[in-house]
Amino acid sequence: MNAPRKPSEQMLPRMEPLARLPLFFALDGKRALVAGGSAAAAWKAELLSAAGAQVDVFAAVASEVLVALAAQPPHGAIVIRGRGWEASDFAGAAIALGDCADEAEAQKFAAAGRAAGVPVNVIDKPDFGDFAFGAIVNRSPLVIGISTDGAAPVFAQAIRAKLEGLIPRGFARWADAARRWRGAVKQSGLAFAGRRQFWQFFTARALGNPDRAPVDADLHALLGQAHGDGAAVEHGLVTLVGAGPGDPELLTLRAVRALQSADVILFDDLVSPNILDFARREAKKMLVGKTGYRSSCRQTDINRLIVALAKGGKRVVRLKGGDPMIFGRAGEEIAACRAAGISVAVVPGITAAQGAAGRLGVSLTQRGLARRVQYLTGHGEDGCLPQDIDWQSAAATSTTTVVYMPSGHLDELVTKAIGGGLDPATSAVAVANATRPHETIIADRIGNLPARLAAEPADGPVIVMIGRVLGDVVPAAPGSAVTLASGS
Ligand code: SAH
Repeated sequence: MNAPRKPSEQMLPRMEPLARLPLFFALDGKRALVAGGSAAAAWKAELLSAAGAQVDVFAAVASEVLVALAAQPPHGAIVIRGRGWEASDFAGAAIALGDCADEAEAQKFAAAGRAAGVPVNVIDKPDFGDFAFGAIVNRSPLVIGISTDGAAPVFAQAIRAKLEGLIPRGFARWADAARRWRGAVKQSGLAFAGRRQFWQFFTARALGNPDRAPVDADLHALLGQAHGDGAAVEHGLVTLVGAGPGDPELLTLRAVRALQSADVILFDDLVSPNILDFARREAKKMLVGKTGYRSSCRQTDINRLIVALAKGGKRVVRLKGGDPMIFGRAGEEIAACRAAGISVAVVPGITAAQGAAGRLGVSLTQRGLARRVQYLTGHGEDGCLPQDIDWQSAAATSTTTVVYMPSGHLDELVTKAIGGGLDPATSAVAVANATRPHETIIADRIGNLPARLAAEPADGPVIVMIGRVLGDVVPAAPGSAVTLASGS
């Protein structure tokens, strides 16, 4: 047995290279320069005006669209100067945009902008510019910009269309209310953690009521709620979160929300790394490794750490593979928090058995074949096969049994179950890395499975499922390979 591991902060990979840095330019009341009188220039002038800029358009000839726009700008004034641009026009501009006839003019325009310290964009000539306009989803003050770094603007537009459908228009009103209420929340007497709690309640309410306008009663109710939970909040909160079997798409929405509002995330080895991509960037991520076999932190150390962090006011997420309430020692962590007076919430996850059943396309309670499902562990606290398993029940014909942590003791477990009456010809499947990219399955009669698994040891977590419901998965010719369609 290896020495217990110390909880350690995980060094996660740095951010991947970023083709463009999205920045949101504040233009309200600032001067913007547009060179050119075409319809394309008019469209950009409209964007700049919508963002509140005072737009000076330099164009010897102005298109009809431009003239109409200048007469009725969306927000900031648009003034058409009836001449071409000059270098001195850049003075005092916050941003400049040119519709240039050719590369020579584009070069001149960009050089004049840079000399004046003004960021420049040249329409359809990205090589000359400092920035690009993205596709926009406008729920102001909530704004989403989409860029493909010029690679595929049509693709960006398609993504914009998807987001338009996904993000209710009413979010604009909630984002606006947030802006109006910020001051009141700051002066509400709530401490930092309480204010964070307020914004979490606010977000839940906005997500739940996108179609109605927020009213002052919402503000009062939310403040009351945040004050009411104040005692717990000053202490921080602990949330036990199920990470599911591996595929991040199997995370629940609530799990994602918890990960995005955590200060500290304590996670197990079993949690697949791409799940942590959903965490708040600033959250501290600590591996507290509990796999069942390998060296891991002592449970008492983990309990102590959770309590200490929460007492320090942190929002702690305890992230566990599968469902936290299935072979996850959740009971001990909940008891430790309760004993310390700390609130605990639980976000259920998809347990390995459910993930595997979904991938196999097998109903664990198929009518006529199974009356019940049971989960067993093949690994007791002392590292041996638990001695108090009810072997008759493990052997019952109309039962589907899922063995968690089977490795090491499957042979002994199967021998004892057969001793209890289990038919060795019962169908069984070992699934390793269920729902993950390297998922593998071995399907055979239960009597053969321990030897098969020993001959082809899996790299990664494994469960063994036993029962008549698996009959369709187990090939007629024992030993022949079974493959599943890859992907989802
Ligand atoms: N709470 C987890 C179980 C933790 S016990 C759950 O609900 O799934 C750890 C055991 O779970 C592993 O040894 C393995 O038997 C099983 N397990 C977890 N994830 C798995 C996966 N993706 N594929 C196969 N087995 C898995």
